[in-house]
Amino acid sequence: MTLKRLQTDILILGSGGAGLFAALHAHQSDPSLSITVAVKGLLGKCGCTRMVQGGYNVALAEGDSVERHFMDTIEGSKWLSNQDLAWTLVTGAVERIHELENELGCFFDRNPDGTVHQKAFAGQTFDRTVHKGDLTGIEIINRLAEQVWARGIDRLEEHRAIELIRTADGRAIAGVLMIDMRSGEFVFVQARAVLLATGGGPTMYKYHTPSGDKSCDGLAMALRAGLPLRDMEMVQFHPTGLLAGTGTRMTGTVIEEGLRGAGGYLLNGRNDGSDEPGERFMQHYDARQERATRDIVSRAIYSEMRAGRTSPNGGVYIQMHHLGPDKVRKQFKGMVERCADCGFDLAGGLVEVVPTAHYMMGGVIFEPDCRTVLEGLFAAGEDTGGVHGANRLGGNGVANSTVFGGIAGESMARWLQEHGDWRGPDEAAIRESIAMHEAPFAPAAGEQAQQHGSGDIESIREALFDCMWDDVGILRTAQGLQRAQGRLAELEAELSRIRLRDDLPGGRAFNLSWHDLLNLRSLVTISRVIATAALAREDSRGAHFREDFPETGDLPNSTYTVVRARDARGGNVTGNTAGIEVGDNDSESNSESNGRESQTGDFTLTREPVNFTRVRPGETIL
Ligand SMILES: Cc1cc2nc3c(=O)[nH]c(=O)nc-3n(C[C@H](O)[C@H](O)[C@H](O)COP(=O)(O)OP(=O)(O)OC[C@H]3O[C@@H](n4cnc5c(N)ncnc54)[C@H](O)[C@@H]3O)c2cc1C
Repeated sequence: MTLKRLQTDILILGSGGAGLFAALHAHQSDPSLSITVAVKGLLGKCGCTRMVQGGYNVALAEGDSVERHFMDTIEGSKWLSNQDLAWTLVTGAVERIHELENELGCFFDRNPDGTVHQKAFAGQTFDRTVHKGDLTGIEIINRLAEQVWARGIDRLEEHRAIELIRTADGRAIAGVLMIDMRSGEFVFVQARAVLLATGGGPTMYKYHTPSGDKSCDGLAMALRAGLPLRDMEMVQFHPTGLLAGTGTRMTGTVIEEGLRGAGGYLLNGRNDGSDEPGERFMQHYDARQERATRDIVSRAIYSEMRAGRTSPNGGVYIQMHHLGPDKVRKQFKGMVERCADCGFDLAGGLVEVVPTAHYMMGGVIFEPDCRTVLEGLFAAGEDTGGVHGANRLGGNGVANSTVFGGIAGESMARWLQEHGDWRGPDEAAIRESIAMHEAPFAPAAGEQAQQHGSGDIESIREALFDCMWDDVGILRTAQGLQRAQGRLAELEAELSRIRLRDDLPGGRAFNLSWHDLLNLRSLVTISRVIATAALAREDSRGAHFREDFPETGDLPNSTYTVVRARDARGGNVTGNTAGIEVGDNDSESNSESNGRESQTGDFTLTREPVNFTRVRPGETIL
């Protein structure tokens, strides 16, 4: 085993909206700092920010206000948001959108009078979604990447972060262990401050939208490093993923919400073996029909599927032609072309769709200034929890990553002025992690190097997809969640038995089987956390629906779930080492006083009371 060692003042994991904004703002705050962005893919070419289609929520127009954006976000969250984080989001979005336009040079669509065009998105009381056609994310990431390149910020591309390494006394982060995917070498990057911005990503479901490089690595690393994760049961499904059959990565990709907003219909199948569409079914589920929120439409589609009223590939249909094919072609050019690539005529015919896992509302507990409970570790973007509560509004995702990414950059630079020391890593933890990651290459008895390999990664992936879709998906029950817990434990054991060949001519360079295996390890770990949190929440809120507990529960006494690993190396970071309380109130005293702490296998779960710092259920600040 060889271990390369590098040093940087600030290490940023991930190059989405959060990572790149953090790099720019840290550099602006203190140009003398060495800043390194480490990313699993290529900078500017990976992650989900680049995939943003719809747009960016911000209160800009006359008649709108940050208070209104805040109330929409809180109502959408089903009162589970950390309200200080939500307030930071809506106020920070105004500053960030001006920065994107005026400093970074993004061109967003405009009205004839020159004002920025803002479109409607579900769950909002005002049309506030800024966009560039349906390619908003490419515009944002391209401009950001140009600026990062121009400032000479260091890059470690195709470097996969695998472990957050604490100091020997466990009190702070010392750096991050990585694999250089191009060579297969291990690299330890010592850093004075680290940002976790690897973007979550629920790619453990059979149908999912996020980019293929995302496999919940950041969340799995945070859990192993002893950090608490909140709201992990909250996985958002987008109702209309393209259903283009098996064997194509296009299946699961988003057919945008604007189609339903513009008047598209959802039709079920006839259940008589024919390809003919059946009836428009949303009327049976919600008075708003197709314009109901994502969670309601997803549940309705899933119910139709479960009843067997499906299209040939097992989903339902979206129909647009009643609006006039030419109008549809003009208004939804990108979508029409994408569907045509897969053999569907969106403008004149029917397209098969299915709900698809889109976004994780849960993640690492963090403060409005992006600090976490582990000293020196900051977090931003989709890796964090608390901003969106039980449901994220469309358009609040990219706002979240860019607002908090920028804040994280400034916070890290400021923090380093007072906490400037280099901290030595726990060398034993580095050795242990390398051993764990090299284990699949261990030679078989009598061999110099593992020459045969064994186990079937693909079948484990398929089993994970099915387990999460069937039992931890859109409709949940205690029985299904317990079944999933058992199945996930089996899959974890199967993964540990996989052996990979270590005698290939290229060595471990670009060893995709190895990285598939590591992706699956992270996904199975986080799937277990999701199932644990979902089993503990015995009510139905936003994205989380329990058929055995369909009621919303008592809003004024709302609680959120917090999961920690029981076996984190060096123990969990539960104290307020950085002056941060894990719950909105004091975590330990609450969990003791209300008896809500439970030990569930490898995890400890607590339910913390939501602290309504700005507005209480039933009230408004408008
Ligand atoms: C198809 C699609 C459409 C969307 N449309 C919208 C929309 O219209 N509006 C909206 O608000 N939101 C939308 N979202 C959500 C939005 O994209 C995300 O909320 C947001 O962009 C996440 O930003 P991020 O910086 O946290 O993560 P990302 O942009 O996903 O970046 C994560 C980065 O981390 C890297 N990474 C991952 N693992 C590792 C590792 N182990 N080591 C090193 N690097 C790692 C990745 O390679 C990537 O560079 C959409 C998402 C998808 C998938």
